[in-house]
Amino acid sequence: NKQVIFKGYIDGVPKISDMELKLSNIKLNNPSQQALLVKNLYLSCDPYMRGRMRDFHGSYIPPFVPSKVLEGFGVSKVIVSDNPNFKAGDLISGFTGWEEYSIITKTDQLRKIEPDDHIPLSFHLGLLGMPGFTAYAGFYEVCSPSSGEYVFVSAASGAVGQLVGQLAKLHGCYVVGSAGSKEKVELLKNKLGFDEAFNYKEELDLDAALKRYFPQGIDIYFDNVGGDMLDAALLNMKIHGRIAVCGMISQQSISDPKGIRNLSSLIYKRIRMQGFLQSDYLHLYPKFLEEVSAYYKQGKIVYFEDMNEGLESAPAAFVGLFTGKNVGKQVICVSHE
Ligand code: NDP
Repeated sequence: NKQVIFKGYIDGVPKISDMELKLSNIKLNNPSQQALLVKNLYLSCDPYMRGRMRDFHGSYIPPFVPSKVLEGFGVSKVIVSDNPNFKAGDLISGFTGWEEYSIITKTDQLRKIEPDDHIPLSFHLGLLGMPGFTAYAGFYEVCSPSSGEYVFVSAASGAVGQLVGQLAKLHGCYVVGSAGSKEKVELLKNKLGFDEAFNYKEELDLDAALKRYFPQGIDIYFDNVGGDMLDAALLNMKIHGRIAVCGMISQQSISDPKGIRNLSSLIYKRIRMQGFLQSDYLHLYPKFLEEVSAYYKQGKIVYFEDMNEGLESAPAAFVGLFTGKNVGKQVICVSHE
């Protein structure tokens, strides 16, 4: 059983050498105690996993265990089940190991996937998985959007951002996205329906860039990056604007992040800035699945993935999230069936 092992706690930006590929002698026999033996088909690379690479126990999720297999969201096929709720052949999504086969003992949060010829299985890690749900819950529940409002999304071509922008367009908003390459900017403008997009790496002055795209100010900032972009957005919010603090990927690997300078805007512009975790809104998951699947099937939204083939490619794909190598949702295909 090929596995990706987490070597030990890290400082700074993750490197490929922080992980290693190993062969384990996991027994592929019958699992017991309500467990499942699954074959992992698709694995998800997500930025929050960086947080699990530090020796910090105060977060909403515990750190990875050094020298053990990495863990993340996956789409898997049940091979053997000792659990009455699952049977061999079922397709599931939920936490699994970064390995070819896993024994899953925590089955209460697994979701059974109804196969659908019109929706790729791997979408259960992106559009219909945790990142898509983050976009849905964050936009509708945290941003309090109204039609006609001006919306700014950072890391806009990524797993979360691309859906936020499209939901905002469907809601009748004007939407601008920022991303880190020309290719991503083209994708936002030409394929994802954003009204405007810009490459923040080419802007010397982020405040000036936002003033160019939002001469009358921003109603909603969906923040995926934190840092300098958040500071610039604070200067450009409208009165009673809302900032959904979804992620701070620009600060995630910095041990001593620099402070945000423009927080006083919160007061005189009466801005509501709110952090959130998608997991607080799980009661909305069925509604999300129904609505977003329908939008996709009706051609009202599209979704871009960056698919790497083979478990061997997983460490590089994960590391690539922190340099912006991924174009769209980063997924690893371990096996097609
Ligand atoms: P993406 O698919 O967007 O991939 C990460 C992207 O972040 C990269 O492609 C890159 O895009 C950008 N990035 C990387 N490093 C930096 C940097 N130093 N400064 C600015 N941008 C950077 O990831 P997701 O869509 O999965 O996640 C987006 C954010 O949402 C993350 O911060 C994540 O932690 C957060 N999140 C929060 C959840 C919640 O419940 N609150 C749940 C899920 C995700 P580019 O080329 O455009 O720079």
